[in-house]
Amino acid sequence: MFTLETAATAAYVVAALLFILALAGLSKHETSRAGNTFGMAGMVVALVATIALALARHIEPLGLGLLIAAMAIGAAIGLWRARVVEMTGMPELIALLHSFVGLAAVLVGWNGYLHVEHDLAGAEAAVLSNEGMLGIHSAEVFIGVFIGAVTFTGSIVANLKLSARIKSAPLMLPGKNFLNVGALVLFVVFTVWFVIEPQLWLLIVVTVLALLLGWHLVASIGGGDMPVVVSMLNSYSGWAAAASGFLLSNDLLIVTGALVGSSGAYLSYIMCKAMNRSFISVIAGGFGIEAGPAEDKDYGEHREITAEGAAELLSSASSVIITPGYGMAVAQAQYGVAELTRKLRERGVTVRFGIHPVAGRLPGHMNVLLAEAKVPYDIVLEMDEINDDFDNTSVVLVIGANDTVNPAASEDPGSPIAGMPVLTVWNAEHVIVFKRSMASGYAGVQNPLFFRENTQMLFGDARDRVDDINAAL
Ligand code: NDP
Repeated sequence: MFTLETAATAAYVVAALLFILALAGLSKHETSRAGNTFGMAGMVVALVATIALALARHIEPLGLGLLIAAMAIGAAIGLWRARVVEMTGMPELIALLHSFVGLAAVLVGWNGYLHVEHDLAGAEAAVLSNEGMLGIHSAEVFIGVFIGAVTFTGSIVANLKLSARIKSAPLMLPGKNFLNVGALVLFVVFTVWFVIEPQLWLLIVVTVLALLLGWHLVASIGGGDMPVVVSMLNSYSGWAAAASGFLLSNDLLIVTGALVGSSGAYLSYIMCKAMNRSFISVIAGGFGIEAGPAEDKDYGEHREITAEGAAELLSSASSVIITPGYGMAVAQAQYGVAELTRKLRERGVTVRFGIHPVAGRLPGHMNVLLAEAKVPYDIVLEMDEINDDFDNTSVVLVIGANDTVNPAASEDPGSPIAGMPVLTVWNAEHVIVFKRSMASGYAGVQNPLFFRENTQMLFGDARDRVDDINAAL
């Protein structure tokens, strides 16, 4: 028989399939637009089906009013934020959105407790105890609240680090590994206790414990590893949603949460491999990484060059590689860089771009900016494709990049970014670094490249300096 309930269940299956198609589409550049469309369609189906299900279960008018009001307010804020967000602000916005998923999971868990375990004489508890499911419900509450609270504070710290409102350097509390492992052990003990005897104080303690753990886990991870942290929190937010799905008996939420959780975990794993990081170490909040000695090394003097000097060097070059970074995005220098590329190519200079996988603040950041400025795609190469060519290059222009061209990653085993593959720009004949000061990059590590014999600094806003070079050319 056709009922609103069966229609909603069927719609959930359709939505789940659309989400799987979305993930498949997003895995390739060419199909990513279609992937986004599938995802949006899936979400519309899911929202409509959820409201239909609420109606079928005779939701009270006040509840329905609140549901629609919350959706309208949320949609308005979401649309506004998505319209105004700068490309460079995208990761911090994503981190903030993950925190909402975590908070929602905590609230759903607490709600589950108040309706069932806290009201053992009530109807819901009676049904669950008849079915022998009360213990499972308690475990769902506890686990959901724990994952949700870790995701909530972890994502807030990620947001603060990415927006530079707190320092990106790792927090190094004494015995930090012991604190993390201790918190996990306590969680396991309390879960068993809560399943046997569901008491309010245990839920309060685990909530506080998880909030502190989430904060500490992400605060302990250094700036250079933040791309992995963002995808890891994405994964946590998926598991938090799946936990809420169990509590709310909502199959779609379980499937969607599991999809986000597992794909986020896999993305974190791929990123760790690309950055030569230990997956376990990063998800365990920098487990095993101890504080290195404070940086007080004297690298000597740096040399400076003017825009005119740079133009002269470029005019006599036979091949040039441009390695852009976050500073190019901040300065919005991509149009000037595209113009410079055109001018040099007209003079017969070979110009190519070397793109580091984590340059900028989100995967593919530099590719998008260069495509926007209409730089031909075939001269934009990935790090692995270009790293061997620096030896035969006359001039490298490092435009607002820092961590991604730091030789300490390959030469100094004590460096916080040791082992991370970087663009080996220092092998070229001349290196010109565009930045505004001698400040360190996102990972907070000094860059010995700036003090090398063949490096010259071109200080100032990258856009202004590129325009100056264009004028001089
Ligand atoms: P960095 O963030 O290391 O350095 C950027 C440099 O740009 C700074 O040293 C800054 O120096 C300079 N800069 C800033 N504004 C301007 C401007 N207007 N004009 C000229 N220069 C400017 O950049 P990279 O791209 O090399 O490295 C990315 C870092 O971000 C890595 O550590 C990566 O792990 C991390 N990260 C990457 C994410 C991703 O997914 N891609 C996500 C999160 C973090 P100064 O202030 O002196 O001008």
